[in-house]
Amino acid sequence: MVTGTHLTADRRAHADRAATSARPAPAHRTASAPKAGDDSRLEAELRKLAGSVPDPELPVVTLEELGVLRGVQILGPGRVEVELTPTYTGCPAIEAMTTDIEQVLHDHGVAEVSVVKVLSPAWSTNDITAEGRRKLAEFGIAPPRPQPAEGPIPLTLSVRCPHCGSTDTELLSRFSSTACKALRRCVDCREPFDHFKEL
Ligand SMILES: [Zn+2]
Repeated sequence: MVTGTHLTADRRAHADRAATSARPAPAHRTASAPKAGDDSRLEAELRKLAGSVPDPELPVVTLEELGVLRGVQILGPGRVEVELTPTYTGCPAIEAMTTDIEQVLHDHGVAEVSVVKVLSPAWSTNDITAEGRRKLAEFGIAPPRPQPAEGPIPLTLSVRCPHCGSTDTELLSRFSSTACKALRRCVDCREPFDHFKEL
């Protein structure tokens, strides 16, 4: 490794100098300084702003928590590109997400915002953050169960009732208010609830 070699050489040189001179040489600071400038700071700030936009279909979670925000890049002065992954093919929410992101960045002084769709790697419910899952459950929606990384391995975990925590729940309808949710009912507390389906 290059860094390791440099370090060793530098330390040896330093030791030699220390041995032959009373005054130690000034430390070598500039060699591997990260190129973190104003741009990366601004990018992080803009990403935070774009990520804080609520999901148009499930406003209880943000786009960051939903895991659809893939990146924010500064292309030039006042020009920003945002990468967004649709939750499923032909998802109409992506248009609303795009408009909302453009709005929040325009309000922050970015003149030109281009939102590009990134289709690969495809979004999956595994991309929903832990905080996003917590908020869904708090809102009464059973969060999607974690999916295996590869292959159609059948789910063995039961869907937990967000009201009482019981795992004894039954499917009422494969589709609820939106295509991404199913309607279930808890056998224990008898409350119906939405389940965010795994994808
Ligand atoms: Zn229940």
